[in-house]
Parts: sequence; structure tokens; C-alpha cells
Amino acid sequence: MSSQKTQGGKATQVRKQIAVIPGDGIGKEVIPQAVQAIQATGAAVDFTDFDWGADRYLRDGTTVPPEGFAMLGRDFDAILVGAFGDPRVKTNIHAKEILLGMRFRMDLYANVRPVRLLDAALCPLKGVEPKDVDFVVLRENTEGVYTDAGGVFKQGTADEIATQEDINTRKGVERIIRYAFEYCKTHTKLDGSPRSKVLMCDKSNAMTHAGGLWQRVFREVSAEYPQITAQHMYVDALCMQMVRDPRQFDVIVTNNLFGDIITDLSAGLQGGLGMAASGNIHPGRTSMFEPVHGSAPPIAGKNQANPFGAILTAAMMLAHLGFEKESARIEAAVLEAVRQKKVTQDIGGSLGTKEAAAWIQKFLSS
Ligand code: ATP
Repeated sequence: MSSQKTQGGKATQVRKQIAVIPGDGIGKEVIPQAVQAIQATGAAVDFTDFDWGADRYLRDGTTVPPEGFAMLGRDFDAILVGAFGDPRVKTNIHAKEILLGMRFRMDLYANVRPVRLLDAALCPLKGVEPKDVDFVVLRENTEGVYTDAGGVFKQGTADEIATQEDINTRKGVERIIRYAFEYCKTHTKLDGSPRSKVLMCDKSNAMTHAGGLWQRVFREVSAEYPQITAQHMYVDALCMQMVRDPRQFDVIVTNNLFGDIITDLSAGLQGGLGMAASGNIHPGRTSMFEPVHGSAPPIAGKNQANPFGAILTAAMMLAHLGFEKESARIEAAVLEAVRQKKVTQDIGGSLGTKEAAAWIQKFLSS
């Protein structure tokens, strides 16, 4: 946890402790660049690296060492994660145990995914400007169909049955919906104007049991925030509206599965997976920050990955830790890189991962 240094008997800076887990594939390329961007801001943080990922799993069979999650929660202020997934680990067991383990076992229930367009050229939609795409998706992160409840019966026979349970608890639904209203109350848009709308997205017309719970809780919690406009959309309609008119969205709250899907769609509005940042948060506890993209095996090790999603994730983590100024400097640097086309191929540039990140570091150091 935070450490205090003394100089001549006087306490100086509280340094924050960050655990760094690059993981697999392009995670190993982009996370070191994000760390260097943080270092270039001079933020008072210390980093500790962990080798959890496919290489270690293939070497000695461990995914998370004993007491690993307890150690992260006890000894660190935040965790910076890359991505997990490696074609050599067919079961993807390590990804499940490390990434879902962190989200579930550390109870990081709010997956916060800001969706912001830095430059009109990055958006595939016609006539859409940066001011038109500035919303956030709050995805429930510990329940839903990702809990792995269910099973397979008579596997491999013509009578095979597979069930995947959708778990929704009153506590889980209520806390993410409340988080969304609190987020709306306490955050502004990029232009400084207040946020004012929370939209709950579900499929309650077809999934009536779980959807009914989400509907009831949303009605109850929204009544406590009369100054915030409460809205609702079915997930299929929301997908269509996101492409037709992203201007209408402000704060969106939804379950684990729908949140996963609509944030890939919304990453498309920002320039692709390489531009999207996220945080996995439990207020008051050690939280984890990761770019939205995965390990991207086809481009791993080729110096092609866009490092900006990871670097913007680092900025998000700094803001969470109270380093608002340093966070804003990183965001300004990425914005300038995009404007000057000092970017990777996925967003129309010609730089490699290292070169694009080096431009950011130089900008921050100047
Ligand atoms: P996961 O299920 O772990 O989220 P995924 O298979 O859905 O992973 P990714 O690994 O994120 O998807 O990537 C899919 C594709 O998107 C990649 O193969 C790559 O072409 C592109 N991509 C993802 N991240 C980046 C990035 N940072 N820079 C450039 N391209 C990227």
C-alpha cells in the first residue's frame, strides 16, 4: 500500500504502489509502454512486476500463486493489467483464473469503460465529431452469465445438454446501478458540462426473470436521484442507436454480457479496440485497470499493437489514485499524437508500438 518517505524527520510524499501484470500477447508490448508514460509524468508511484500469464503457466503450471489475490489487495493501491490469452493454452484456463479471478475474487464489481472520440478521423460514422461521442459504459463485472454456473450433461452424445446460468443478485444489481447514478453525479463530460442521464440496458422483454429484477431495482434507485434523467433501452435497440446517433448517450449501465458486447461496439466508435481503456473498480479497495482489447495473437510480437488503449488506461488509473494532473497530461499527449498522426497502423498511422509510445514519452518529458 501507499508508502510515506521521511526526510530530516519530515514526511514527504505518499507514494502509491502499483502491481503490473502484462500477461500475454500484445499485453507484454503495450503495458511496459504505459508504465513508461506514467514514469514520464513524474507521478509518485512505484511499480512491482508480476509474470502471471501463459509463459509461467506453461513453465510450472501455476496461474495465480497461493494467496496471490490477497497479496494484491493488501500490498498495492492499484493493478495495471495487459491481456490474457495464448494459442498454446487451448483451455484458456490461465486467463480465466487470473483475469476473472481478479474481477470475481477481489469483487471488482464496476467495470468502467469510457467511450470518447479523440478525433473525427477515427470514427467510422459520417459527420460525427469528438463532442458527439463522450459516454461511459458501466458493466456489472461479477455476476451474469460469466460466473460459469451450469454444466454439460451427456456430453458427446446426440442427447447432449448444456446450460449456462445467468446469475443476478439483488445486491449485485443494486450496487452497479447505484454506482452508475453516483458516477453520473460526480463526473463531468470532456467539455466540462455535467453528466445528467443514466440509461439501463437489458433484454427484459425476453429474459423476464433477470430483466424484471433489473427493472425493479432501476426504478427504486433512480427515484433517489430525481435530478438525473433515468432511461431504458433493450440491448438490441441500443446497438442500433449507438451506430445511428451516439450523441444521445451519457451513462449506460448494464449486465456483464451486454456490457462486454456493447463496449466492443462502442470501441469501434473511438477508432477500434486499440483505443479503449477500462477500470475494474470496487470503491475503497484495490482496483484493477486494463485496456479493453485482448492479447491479439495475430499481431503479437510484431511491434504493431496500438499502445494508446493501455496508455489511456494508465491515465485512468492515475486519476483514480488522485494524480489528476498527471492523468490529464497523458490524455493531452495522446490527443496530440492523434492530431499529429503519430500513431499506429490500426488508426491510420505508420508508427510501430514502440515508436508511437516513444512519441508520447517525449511529449510528456518536454
Ligand atoms: P478477448 O476475448 O481477450 O477480448 P478478442 O479475441 O476478442 O480478445 P483481441 O485480442 O482484443 O480480441 O483482438 C482482436 C483483433 O483486434 C486483433 O487480432 C487485432 O487485429 C485487433 N486489435 C486488438 N487490440 C489491438 C491493438 N491494441 N492494436 C491494434 N489492433 C488491435
